[in-house]
Amino acid sequence: NAKGNGKNTFCFFDPKLQKIMDEKIKLTESLKEAIEQNQMNLHYQTQIFLNQEEKIVGVEALIRWNHPTRGMISPAEFIPLAEESGLIIPLGEWIIDEACKQIKTWKSEKVKKSWRVSINVSSKQFEMDSFVSTIKNIVDINGIHPNMLRLELTESLLIKNVDKVLDRLHKLKEMGFSLSIDDFGTGYSSLSYLKRLPINELKIDQSFIKDLTTDKNDEIIIKTIITIGKKFGLEVIAEGVETKEQYQKLTEIGCKYFQGYFFSKPISAQQL
Ligand code: C2E
Ligand code: MG
Ligand code: MG
Ligand code: MG
Repeated sequence: NAKGNGKNTFCFFDPKLQKIMDEKIKLTESLKEAIEQNQMNLHYQTQIFLNQEEKIVGVEALIRWNHPTRGMISPAEFIPLAEESGLIIPLGEWIIDEACKQIKTWKSEKVKKSWRVSINVSSKQFEMDSFVSTIKNIVDINGIHPNMLRLELTESLLIKNVDKVLDRLHKLKEMGFSLSIDDFGTGYSSLSYLKRLPINELKIDQSFIKDLTTDKNDEIIIKTIITIGKKFGLEVIAEGVETKEQYQKLTEIGCKYFQGYFFSKPISAQQL
């Protein structure tokens, strides 16, 4: 253990650490190939609106990497690598373009589907000065109205450079893009800041849903988020809904939008 001597120093000759770094470099190289060779695809997870009856109103696009020898690699593993290496920029553009193409396909099918697609935007991507013009270009080229896309942003992204972020959000909102705060409740954004954000949706982090039926505190937190959302005129969606009991409890406390394995896992467009 490189930290074994109790000091915060890393020893770069630690063979174990060297191995991890080699792995990382290798994975980054194959990530580059994967983007170029189209080994990536988007899966979609349904988002349900409950009002008398259940209705699919949108889907969240979640990226999948099917590596030729290693099999499925989780985005939790490769998105950080893509961010560190800068590959998130071409990858992020590919994701937006792919989602637009899927929206077009759904629109043109015999049984027309007008599902809005939520896209996860990484902070590196959002912070690029060209982000707004790039995303506008992609929707325009595809002939998609921006309101068919909802951008999921994390609290940590939103609190980094407040003036710049607000300016960018307002531009996106004016163009018609829909905006959401992902993993809501786990970050550090203040209520006074929340009030100023031109967003459409709060997405309650799945950690609060997990023990909802047994932990009163989680129930209180969720109720509070729903109340705040209502007062601010925002949609509030619960993510990570896995069981019928969680779904029932959520409906009891006034939640209207849901996403989770109980309804569907993320699946390919074809399966969907
Ligand atoms: P996220 O945006 O918060 O996505 C939710 C994660 O929870 C997804 O994992 C989803 O498959 C999983 N999930 C959905 N329903 C349930 C459920 O009922 N129970 C449980 N236990 N999990 C559920 P996934 O697909 O592995 O993605 C993980 C994270 O990677 C995402 O968190 C997001 O931060 C990032 N990510 C995924 N796709 C993209 C992408 O296209 N672009 C970017 N920038 N990040 C992405
Ligand atoms: Mg998300
Ligand atoms: Mg989330
Ligand atoms: Mg997350």
